[in-house]
Amino acid sequence: MTEISGARVQELRGVGPKLAEKLADYGVFRVEDLLFHLPLRYQDRTRITPIAAAREGVDAVIEGEVRAADIVFGRRRSLVARLQDGTGTITLRFFHFSAAQKNKLKPGCRLRCFGQPRRGSAGLEIYHPEYNEVGTAESPAEETLTPIYPTTSGIGQNQWRNLCGQALLRLQKDPPQDLLPPGSHPYDLAQALHYLHSPPPDAPLEQLREGDHPAQLRLALEELIAHNLSLFRLRQRAQADGAPVLESKPRELEAFLGGLPFTPTGAQARVLAEIATDLAKPYPMLRLVQGDVGSGKTLVAAGAALQAIANGYQVAIMAPTEILAEQHWNSFNDWFAPLSISMEWLSGRTKGKKRQAALHNIVSGQASLVIGTHALFQQDVAFKLLGLVIVDEQHRFGVHQRLALTEKTAPGQGRPHQLVMTATPIPRTLSMVAYADLDCSVIDELPPGRQAVTTALVDSQRRQNVVARVAAACTQGRQAYWVCTLIEESDTLQAQAAEATAAELQLALPELAIGLIHGRLKPAEKERVMASFKAGELALLVATTVIEVGVDVPNASLMIIENPERLGLAQLHQLRGRVGRGSEASHCVLLYQSPLSANGKQRLGAMRESTDGFYIAEKDLQLRGPGEVLGTRQTGLMEFRIAELPAHNHLLQTVQDLSNEIRQRSPRLVDPLIQRWTGAVQQFAKV
Ligand code: ADP
Ligand code: MG
Repeated sequence: MTEISGARVQELRGVGPKLAEKLADYGVFRVEDLLFHLPLRYQDRTRITPIAAAREGVDAVIEGEVRAADIVFGRRRSLVARLQDGTGTITLRFFHFSAAQKNKLKPGCRLRCFGQPRRGSAGLEIYHPEYNEVGTAESPAEETLTPIYPTTSGIGQNQWRNLCGQALLRLQKDPPQDLLPPGSHPYDLAQALHYLHSPPPDAPLEQLREGDHPAQLRLALEELIAHNLSLFRLRQRAQADGAPVLESKPRELEAFLGGLPFTPTGAQARVLAEIATDLAKPYPMLRLVQGDVGSGKTLVAAGAALQAIANGYQVAIMAPTEILAEQHWNSFNDWFAPLSISMEWLSGRTKGKKRQAALHNIVSGQASLVIGTHALFQQDVAFKLLGLVIVDEQHRFGVHQRLALTEKTAPGQGRPHQLVMTATPIPRTLSMVAYADLDCSVIDELPPGRQAVTTALVDSQRRQNVVARVAAACTQGRQAYWVCTLIEESDTLQAQAAEATAAELQLALPELAIGLIHGRLKPAEKERVMASFKAGELALLVATTVIEVGVDVPNASLMIIENPERLGLAQLHQLRGRVGRGSEASHCVLLYQSPLSANGKQRLGAMRESTDGFYIAEKDLQLRGPGEVLGTRQTGLMEFRIAELPAHNHLLQTVQDLSNEIRQRSPRLVDPLIQRWTGAVQQFAKV
């Protein structure tokens, strides 16, 4: 270890216990950590702009003499100074200021200011410029571009610049250890860090903004490698624990499949076989099954569950929402009740005596299959012999949460096997990074007889035509969904919008039986509405996005989505997956509000062009970024400090190669790499 990697921030000038505490919030403990606190962007303060050349809205450094300074009592009290150079005058305005500040701003003093001029009543003004007093002799402007550091509160830009400046000085004397194999990249670590904290005046700002500069790529590469290694390590740890050997049970499986009204597709059969092999190994399976909406993932889950149960183990199935858990309950009940497999239900709403009874059934081992929501993994839920955890993930759980689920076994039993199912396909590029800890199976085939859904974009000005189309379809005995979207996250507003739409449609189409479903309905009421839609008693179902998951009505072959421009691609794809489940040709109408933004046009265009979940996911990634696509923005899981996807997709192959090389040839670099880039995150995950 070199000296710098050990030095603590307290050793720097100006860092006392208070500042050290604030820095710790940023994951900065050591001087080296400061070097990895990288600027978000840069300002060019290397040239002084003559006041006459200053432009509204363009950052500028100006220098001049204060001609007048006074407190002005307008609508808001402010300190106003007039600054003059040989070319003109400009106003500096402060709404917040100290007495000391006021006393120093005296006519005759020379200031250099940085800020963005705006138009005021008497020419250009700069609100709250950064400034400092300068001597009369021409002093040079900044010699490098000025970094702007990510910061929330408590630590100002000047403080970050000062601290990182001190760290850079140490870097020159004593560079941090380069952890990548020699020759991995034209820039070495010290060069890259130095460049990014203080780029020369002629640095390509555009390229830096795009994250495309070689110095940025050097660090992005290292960060992605560190991330990849940390996932591998999680996987190794899980595997080191061992798991119950669950022999494949061809006879039981055949009996089960033989009782179904259909035969598995080729893709289902292939994935079932992959899982059967995994389960028979003495270490835990960690497998991700990706399959488009309607590809039949539930059947694959059932095959896996059956194998575990036939070996005398318990199985837990967790779904992200109550509706989806209920859907699983219904499917498994149909399939497993004839096989006399005992099932138990546990959700957040299971309370009191019912909950006690459920917990007892689970801990005593009476229940072989337990279905529920995340309530399954609360502290007081104990299993007798848990062999397999199935997570229907919908992108809502992160890696660390997934691993926490497997800690539900008694000591000495090893970890349960784990099967994760995702409904929205994850772009291949992204899964290499986000799911490097899992093996992947893809169900790339839909059950036979399905017809692709045709999608049309219709301007909401032609709403009447769409209503007529719904009427025509429904009188022919087909069923339709009318989905109301609302950007607000409020159940109540959504419910109101859906109610209003249902009332309006009922007025326009008095002869149709129209139902209404939204998140504010009581569960029993929801069930009743869904049941009567499924039974064909309702022709049209007006719904909020609650029907995104867990609704399976094959006779419904028309879907209208209002204001689709408000939704992400993944969500639209999920919604659209509710039709096209029967043998009837299905249609989806995206009833958009014009004018569409450029991004909106692209998104809806992608929906019209394709029904391939992988294609749509790749588009979604381009248009929205990985945090949104994986649904992990809040967890910080895919928040990189410098790497950015998909912009850095072109690095991913190198990431894999180098990560393999490091694991095989220089395993002692693995820990320092993970520590350097994900130290703070790992700590967070342990809480
Ligand atoms: P998803 O992958 O979206 O979870 P499901 O498991 O809900 O899909 O399956 C969608 C529908 O397709 C269900 O009604 C299911 O019974 C049916 N299904 C599944 N596999 C087949 C198959 N091999 N042949 C015909 N229908 C199938
Ligand atoms: Mg499903």
